[in-house]
Amino acid sequence: MKYYSTRQIDTKGYSGAEAILRGIAADGGLLMPERIPTFSLSDFATFSQLSYPALAARLLHSFLPEYTEQELLEDASAAYGEMSFPRGALEVKRVDRALYALELWHGPTCAFKDLALQLMPHLFKRAKEKMGEERTALILTATSGDTGKAALEGFKNIPGIKIQVFYPQDGTSLTQRLQMVTQEGDNVSVYGINGNFDDAQRGVKRLFGDEHLAEVLNEKGVFLTSANSINFGRLVPQIVYYVYAYLTLVKNGAIGMGDKLDIVVPTGNFGNILAAYMTKRMGLPVGRLVCASNQNNILYDFFSTGIYDRNRPFYTTISPSMDILVSSNLERLLYLALGAQKTAQYMQSLAQTGRFALSYDELALLQSEFDGDWTSEDETKDIIRLCYDQKGYLIDPHTAVAMHSACKKQIYDAKPSDLRRTLVVSTASPFKFTLSVLQALGQEVPQTEAEAMKALSAYTGHPIPCPLLDLDQKEVRFAACIAVEDMDESMLRFAEE
Ligand SMILES: *Cc1c(COP(=O)(O)O)cnc(C)c1O
Repeated sequence: MKYYSTRQIDTKGYSGAEAILRGIAADGGLLMPERIPTFSLSDFATFSQLSYPALAARLLHSFLPEYTEQELLEDASAAYGEMSFPRGALEVKRVDRALYALELWHGPTCAFKDLALQLMPHLFKRAKEKMGEERTALILTATSGDTGKAALEGFKNIPGIKIQVFYPQDGTSLTQRLQMVTQEGDNVSVYGINGNFDDAQRGVKRLFGDEHLAEVLNEKGVFLTSANSINFGRLVPQIVYYVYAYLTLVKNGAIGMGDKLDIVVPTGNFGNILAAYMTKRMGLPVGRLVCASNQNNILYDFFSTGIYDRNRPFYTTISPSMDILVSSNLERLLYLALGAQKTAQYMQSLAQTGRFALSYDELALLQSEFDGDWTSEDETKDIIRLCYDQKGYLIDPHTAVAMHSACKKQIYDAKPSDLRRTLVVSTASPFKFTLSVLQALGQEVPQTEAEAMKALSAYTGHPIPCPLLDLDQKEVRFAACIAVEDMDESMLRFAEE
């Protein structure tokens, strides 16, 4: 199984291990497997006996055949064990007649990124061994809040690896920032930047593309790579939970094997929903895929008009992990749907003019699989309150964006008796965004995050998740904020430490 650039200006085929070490192709494109493995319904039926780690090993082996299934099982068992996921990797909860929530935030940082970033460091470490790579890997990560913390937790204290995270100084929730600046470990570095997430992501991509810098680092025995969802090693673990959730719904009798399941995903960088789309290409009976955006609704416009245009205002919302105007993984969808040549053309246009426009036929092709939708700030708060007051189900603002789209979709669906089962992807613990959630619930909002967590816990009866307890008691290790232009210097200094 070889991996190729989505632009195929770089025509080299990389092994899976190489793809994970590199993160990105030489031409700036993203790496994709030469084909997507497919499974029959009876294959999926046999998978329903597997534990989560065993399912992960089975599915990952089909993408990464140079990792043995035994190696992958060891890695997945370590990643999804009781230490990190005391309640199991995920939970599927029934919210309403035909509505289910896939809770992906029971890991060490209370957001869905843990599902990928607990496993990826193991894949990465093995890739280094398989490739005989002895240089230190310096993992650069731009984060809108959740990736940074999850990557730091995943990669901390791993020999031969360093990790540096850049987050927008005013673009995360207080809890998200506190989680990052108090990070423990001897191979970690964290900076706030004066800018938004797109500035951070652009800064990191610029460092990756700088050949002179790569040479300087090489002489020091260091190479740069990425733990963002541009890295295929981030994406492939995300396939597993869609398959597992589907099989769980079959086991619970919510759907029959082969029934179509619609999936609504709160979307930022388009990684999570792309993983859902890939499971559909693998043969899982997935129905509509709903790409749910917040007020930064560039993807809604794209799926409605075929025009992707990032020349627009950037909004800071209460769902900060989705405050993104350049959704990197959309490139992978373009590649799968339209091929490398078109992808290269559109990406060049995006780089040069900030926009590209699909043809009518191309748009129709994407619309045959995806619906776009978006939710305003007020609607986000309303649905948090409605969902809690009417269904007794507490959600965070990101999940709320998806829940809002799912409820709307169900209202427009035909007779209640033919309501198709819908899975809403729940991406973060409500305790990660306590101030917004309390406000949405119409509760008084205390001054500090710690008091707010206690208030939310008292009001709802839900315990504060362990990883978020006592966050304010921890030592702040990384207080610095830098200009985007100074990212090079901070990176070089960290590389030499
Ligand atoms: C990262 C994140 C998202 C967006 O996921 P993408 O894969 O970037 O589309 C949504 N919700 C939360 C809580 C996140 O952390």
